[in-house]
Amino acid sequence: MKRNNTEFNKTNVGEIVTLYGWVSKKRDLGGLVFIDLRDRSGIIQLAIRPECAVYNKVLEIKNEYVIKVVGEITLRENSNPNLKTGDIEVIVSDVEVLNESRELPFDLNKVTALEDTRLKYRYLDLRRNELKDKLIMKSLIMQSARDYLNNNEFLEIETPILCKSTPEGARDYLVPSRVNKGSFYALPQSPQLFKQLLMASGFEKYYQIARCFRDEDLRADRQPEFTQIDLEMSFVNEEDVMNLTEGLLANIFKKTKGINLNLPFNRMTYEDAFNMYGSDKPDTRFEMVINDITNAFVDTDFGVFRGVIDDGGMINAIVVKNAADRYSRKDIDKLTEVVKSYKASALAFLKYDNEFTGSIAKFVDEKTGDLLKEQLHLENNDLILIVAGNKKIVKTSLGALRLKLGKDLDLIDSSKFNFLWVTDFPMFEYSEEEGRYIACHHPFTHPMDVDNLDDKENALARAYDIVLNGYEIGGGSIRIHKPDVQEKVLEALEFTKEDAYNKFGFLLDALTYGTPPHGGLALGLERLTMILSGTDNIRDVIAFPKTTSASCLMTEAPNEVSIHQLDELHIKLK
Ligand code: ASP
Repeated sequence: MKRNNTEFNKTNVGEIVTLYGWVSKKRDLGGLVFIDLRDRSGIIQLAIRPECAVYNKVLEIKNEYVIKVVGEITLRENSNPNLKTGDIEVIVSDVEVLNESRELPFDLNKVTALEDTRLKYRYLDLRRNELKDKLIMKSLIMQSARDYLNNNEFLEIETPILCKSTPEGARDYLVPSRVNKGSFYALPQSPQLFKQLLMASGFEKYYQIARCFRDEDLRADRQPEFTQIDLEMSFVNEEDVMNLTEGLLANIFKKTKGINLNLPFNRMTYEDAFNMYGSDKPDTRFEMVINDITNAFVDTDFGVFRGVIDDGGMINAIVVKNAADRYSRKDIDKLTEVVKSYKASALAFLKYDNEFTGSIAKFVDEKTGDLLKEQLHLENNDLILIVAGNKKIVKTSLGALRLKLGKDLDLIDSSKFNFLWVTDFPMFEYSEEEGRYIACHHPFTHPMDVDNLDDKENALARAYDIVLNGYEIGGGSIRIHKPDVQEKVLEALEFTKEDAYNKFGFLLDALTYGTPPHGGLALGLERLTMILSGTDNIRDVIAFPKTTSASCLMTEAPNEVSIHQLDELHIKLK
């Protein structure tokens, strides 16, 4: 059995070893050849001296050849502290070329090639440590998740990939059925309904490292197929699911990073998160919360603020501590662009230095000034950035501005892992696109108050998200387990009874046969891997990813298929 290159160190000096790997780099010093031999574990240096019987053969060897060598481990003259095996080298006595390699289309040691080229030869790009380490991290996360869940009596159960299309949420990927002419399967957007049905079956604790498929427009952090660590439990409440998830994440962090997380994680309601951070996934690694300063301006005769207040809007501010002198008008114009992209009409500002200056200073009378000083705990050289308008615009625009300032001013401690539960989500959200209320989480989420579903703006759900450093890494809910409640919720979502039965009849039926109370959650495996391996690009954590136009440059999927195949599927292209 092959041994790892990096198993060897000073203690092995004098041993004759057989090594396998790729020629990562060959240096011919004329009379002495060095090879960096690479395997998955890392690099070991080979030295081939002129007196070596295979010296001439070695001269023929090129980068990326796969070789087997026999040699003696010796101490290196100049050790290399950057290598795990940096104290030793192998004096080669025999070499066998197991396979040759053409010249690679790009240099693995320099990442200068275009991403498209690297994606076309993904199997070569994956030889680079940078990508390899991320996939190793992903594998470790999966292993530690499995260990933890197996130790906690969870059963790993697979659910179908060929499913029924239930167009709620994202667009489905469809698969035509050959046997059932004119019918289609859908690939699962998540195993949601199946995992609930497994609870109806009595499995009590389920998990799966589940592939999910969503046909959405892609971005840097989205792929058409992705993976969830998906779990579901019976006879539980929010507390149970959160505790279990905290234990699971603690195990993952311990096993992958050696970090002991502080449990329990902080919690915040959706309402507070939105009010203070303008987001349902706040980055709590720095403060700079959003303040509602409408009160300070109730009597204002500043036309813009007056109009906003009279229309039921609000005036909010963030304070950038000790930074007033660092922001010119021009800088503030740039910040204005940020809030404008969130539909805010303008960004007002004040600077405080015993007195107020800035764009709206003349509307700050003594009373308003005192109120601001007290509420915002102002100190000299503070910069106050203000947006007025309706709540959604004010909060989201200041939330985005806060994040930008956090980055620009280097306020974020990147060594921190700040976990936060966001709870008490709204049950419904209004979809401009569909012109109706849709489920904020999904239609199977238990409402906080079953009798208060008519007040769509204020109804709350028993849903929770887990946020890490400003990213939603997972979410879940307590589910509806009673048929009458499920029917009520579907009714509130404007499903006709017929429509509901057509789409989820199997679930509605199951709820009538003794389905236990249950709840669960899913963690986004790619997002977690991205954070743990420090990348913003989801493609880095998927072995064979798609481009933003959903194609695989290596295999050239999706591809056209033959007329014969289409005929068999009863499909005619338009
Ligand atoms: N299936 C849900 C999702 O994909 C997660 C859950 O509710 O467990 O968002």
